[in-house]
Amino acid sequence: MKAGQAEVRTFFLDRDGTLNVKPPDGRYIRCPAELVLLPGAAEAVRELNAGGRRVVLVTNQRGVARGLMTSADLAAVHARLATLLRGHGAFLDAVYVCPHEVGECGCRKPLPGLLKAAMRDFRDIDPADSVMIGDSESDVLAGRAAGTGTVLLQGPGKPRENTVADLVAADLRTAVGLLLTSSKGGRA
Ligand SMILES: [Mg+2]
Ligand SMILES: [Zn+2]
Repeated sequence: MKAGQAEVRTFFLDRDGTLNVKPPDGRYIRCPAELVLLPGAAEAVRELNAGGRRVVLVTNQRGVARGLMTSADLAAVHARLATLLRGHGAFLDAVYVCPHEVGECGCRKPLPGLLKAAMRDFRDIDPADSVMIGDSESDVLAGRAAGTGTVLLQGPGKPRENTVADLVAADLRTAVGLLLTSSKGGRA
């Protein structure tokens, strides 16, 4: 996350508020039609794909535990996400979801369970050359607990909050631009 640091190889991305427009507090994206990509998000993922980086989605979806949507609804939303990304030449390497209620699992961010599951599935993920990017401090804390670098996305007009993130950026495309540029820093 600093100049001269090893190239970032794995990008863990939050979903709501990072890739797509966040629903209001307490609401969930329950069907494919409600999923709208944020400007520049698909382009950012495409840049990562083109650069040979691994892109792993890690998302809390408590609406499943609350009975507001089913696993099938969630799968349909993620199929729509894949379709929208594909329309921009972009793709996710893997998707990890916490469908649980608060306090009932080890995977709901800010806990690191989703990232750890990915690290078990992809044995070559090294937290030292990974980053977690999201729009909530819980994303930052999950990354930190898993040993990755962290970026908090904070658009203009959002109140500044205290964060332990390594980096703050306005949106995903800006964050990706910064990380891909800084990882070229060691080159002649
Ligand atoms: Mg979010
Ligand atoms: Zn969970």
